[in-house]
Parts: sequence; C-alpha cells; structure tokens
Amino acid sequence: MTQLIYLDNNASTALAPAVRAAMTPWLDHTGNAASSHAAGQAADRAISCAREQVADLLTAAPREIVFTSGATEANNLAIRGLTTHSPRRTLVCGATEHPSVLEPMRALERDGYTLRIAPVDEEGLLRLDALAELVDDDTMLVSVMAANNETGVVSPIREAADLAHAAGALLHTDATQLAGWGPLSVDTLGADLLSLSAHKMHGPQGVGALFIRRGLRLTPLLHGGGHERGVRSGTPNTMGIVGLGAAAAAAAACTDADRAQVRRRRDLLAALLDELAGPVRLNGHATQRLPGTLNVTFPGVDADLVMAGAPTVAVATGSACSSGHPGPSHVLGVMGIDPALAAASLRFGLSRYTSDSEVHEAAERIATAVQHARASEGRAS
Ligand code: PMP
Repeated sequence: MTQLIYLDNNASTALAPAVRAAMTPWLDHTGNAASSHAAGQAADRAISCAREQVADLLTAAPREIVFTSGATEANNLAIRGLTTHSPRRTLVCGATEHPSVLEPMRALERDGYTLRIAPVDEEGLLRLDALAELVDDDTMLVSVMAANNETGVVSPIREAADLAHAAGALLHTDATQLAGWGPLSVDTLGADLLSLSAHKMHGPQGVGALFIRRGLRLTPLLHGGGHERGVRSGTPNTMGIVGLGAAAAAAAACTDADRAQVRRRRDLLAALLDELAGPVRLNGHATQRLPGTLNVTFPGVDADLVMAGAPTVAVATGSACSSGHPGPSHVLGVMGIDPALAAASLRFGLSRYTSDSEVHEAAERIATAVQHARASEGRAS
C-alpha cells in the first residue's frame, strides 16, 4: 500500500519520540495527583515538572500555568473568566481568530458585551492602525492569535499588547500554532494570557495550558474540587500533562537551524507545486509566517477534488479544525480572497519531522491529482 504522507500538522501532530517515552510509564500508573499517598504524590511531582517545562517554554513562572483540556478550553477560560472581574464591556479580537476565540466572544456579545473585530490586510496581517481605532477605555480584553492556523501568518503581538495596555486593557494571545516552534517570552510578547495545546507541538491530544499573568484573577469555567489553584477543577490528566511538558521541552529546544530547515522544505514544496501543477498562488504573507505552513490556491481547481484524488497525502481544505463547518475558510474570506479561489486552496503543514523525500513525493501526488481535477472539470464544462 502507498505510504501516507502526513502534511496536516496545523490540524494535529505526531507524538515526538521523547514525548512518547515520557508518557508511557504513566499509562500504568494508578494514582490521583491530589492523593497524599506515594502514588498520588508521584503523579503530583510529574505534573509539577511538566508545569516547569511549560513555564520555561514561555519564560513564565510555574504558578502562572494552568493545565486545561486543550486550547479551546484555554481560550474560553481566558475570555469568559475575565468578564466577572472587569467593569469594562468591550472585547476586541482579530478577524482571523480561531473559532475557539471568536465564538466565546460572540456568545458574550449576545449577552450584551460589545465585540469589535480588527481587520487583516490581503496578506492576512493584522491591521494595527485599525486595531488602534477599536481599542478604548471600555476595552477589557484584546485577543490576537500569535500565528494563524490556516495561513501561518504571525501577528505583531507586542504591538497589539502595547495598544491594549495603553488603553488599560489586557492582551490574550492564542499561541497554539506558534508554541511548537521555539522558546517564547510572555514578557517580550506583552501577553497577560496565552493559550497553547499539546497536540499542535508533537504532544498528545486533549491537553493544553493557559498562562495567566501573576495577579490576574479569572473566574473558573469548571467549578469543583478546586484543582489548578481553583481556576480549573477536575482530576488532572497526569499522562497528558507529562506529554505536554515533554513537548514543551522539545519545542523550547527548537533552534533557528531547525526552523530554517523546515522553511526550506516548505518553500521547496511550493516551488515543486508551482512547477508541476502551477501556477499556484500563495495565501498569506510570504515571510511573516510559521516555518511549516503553506496555503496555496490552484486557480480553477476544486480543492476537494484534489484531496479526493490524492488520498495518500494528508492536507486540508478550508479549516480542518472546525469539524462540522465545511465550506470556504473564513480566514481566506476576511483576507478578501474570492470564494472561488478559496475553494481552490489547500493548506499544507510541515513539521520538524517532514523529510525532503516526503516533500518530493507529496508534490508529485498532489500535482497528478490537480491535473486529473483539471481534466475532469474541463470535461464537465
Ligand atoms: N487555536 C488555534 C489557532 C488552533 O489551531 C486550534 C486547533 N485547531 C485551537 C485553538 C484549538 O485547540 P484544541 O484542539 O487544543 O482545542
């Protein structure tokens, strides 16, 4: 059987070998981290170690890290958790935010909050001039994603944070897509709240974290036994948290050279697609982008047909992250990309583990599928 080439790393990533090795012993460990016996305390120590690893990745303090079930929960906690602690009633976010930021904000809007959405330009970059107009002394929170899941475009977080802080507002960043690509600093970014998710950085699914700057108070979404310093009740997922810690340590070790290598392979993929199935059009900023993300349009070609024609290459059309919402991506839409072009777009996500030979082979399989799609559409018209 033809080997699957996995190029959908923006949707989810494979477990890194070191992460698997760190998690495996916990599969057979019985013990609740809240229990005072030796088995519970062993789990508690493992969780403390993971908390340090996540804090180190973010240049934060361990007590500023709260473990969650993923970035969706972290984003919801950051946004909803603040509301009871602020008299301000306005929320601001970027137009290309993930639904796990946009939807809780829309839900609050239905409850009477004001929601303002800052536009992006045609390359997907947040328009800081527009953001500046939207933030005022009623703004409670500005949420700007660190990097976009569909285009890989990296946002000017520091500048957005400065705008927010100048108005007395807080800055949340959804760093789910950026966190696997090297060390970060919450102070340099100016983030008061930061979300991440293990499965986007070679850790397991179903676990993530929220950085909450010291002194900030959030109302929990989940009330219960008061775990995670009262912010997130529920028996901690020891094995998952250990995996997140190991993934964070591996991400912190990701160097300029590692990123340059992924970038080179991604650009090779773009060049091969252009040569074999082009011309292709890049969606998103050419350089201000995650190393592994390539979102391209094959004008006149139905991207779903291409995917169906290349089932052994795992890629995405639109946003694979929003299950149940097929159709053109809202991200490409707000960048002003015509719906027909958006429907002809594919997102490739390379990881640190993607090889040159996989890039060559994937480009050939996709190019063949594009040619077949063109031929069948030609016959149909
Ligand atoms: N934010 C971004 C930018 C994402 O890409 C995703 C996952 N698609 C999420 C949040 C949600 O993460 P999780 O799957 O951990 O809930």
